[in-house]
Amino acid sequence: MEDRITGYKLEHCRPLCVKAIQSWEKLKEQLDKALSELDLVPHLKQKFETILYHHIPKICIASCPNSCSQPQIKDFAVIGYLRPKLTQEPCQGCQACVNVCIEKAVSWTGQGINLNPELCVQCGACVRSCPSGTLAEEDSGWELRLGGRVGRHPRFAQTVGRLSSDQKVVSWVIEILDYYLKYGNPEERLSHFLERAVLSNVPSAHESNGAKD
Ligand code: SF4
Ligand code: SF4
Ligand code: SF4
Repeated sequence: MEDRITGYKLEHCRPLCVKAIQSWEKLKEQLDKALSELDLVPHLKQKFETILYHHIPKICIASCPNSCSQPQIKDFAVIGYLRPKLTQEPCQGCQACVNVCIEKAVSWTGQGINLNPELCVQCGACVRSCPSGTLAEEDSGWELRLGGRVGRHPRFAQTVGRLSSDQKVVSWVIEILDYYLKYGNPEERLSHFLERAVLSNVPSAHESNGAKD
């Protein structure tokens, strides 16, 4: 019921997860504040004769690509990532990185480490496991996706960009919601509007390159 009072549903990871790359708690706090200020309920009442659950905008934060909170099926998906790189620091040959990478994106060549960016999902586990700094962070932040839903016509949210700042993520969400409130048709739920009017003309939110979708 809480979502019908606030006019939005904001989901997130479990607290204190050791796999978190970004802090969902800080971002949630900022999003809650900005979404409350948007005062969505009166706007939704103008748009829909009766506000049903699927009319309520859904925003989901996952602090790593494991995506336990199921961001792929939400209107807004915000997923933490950490892209690793190989540095000049001498490798100790412990192979902790090889063992921790379940994607098999890290391999031992006999002399050193090989990193395959095509297989890497940018979870950051190898960087956390490396005692020497041979594997380090190239960049990190939030991957943004739009337009996911379940129901009669399910679809996965589509990747639209990356941002490193929590505040910019908040601005991105609010800007798109504003756009929906202004230009969404009567009785048109957000995910259909995103598919029709936004994903063909995305307000892009790219900040870092080297993205792997
Ligand atoms: S998505 Fe990642 S950080 Fe969030 S609960 Fe799952 S494993 Fe932990
Ligand atoms: S970031 Fe994750 S997926 Fe990528 S190489 Fe490291 S452990 Fe493997
Ligand atoms: S974890 Fe670090 S030190 Fe160990 S093998 Fe991998 S790159 Fe080398």
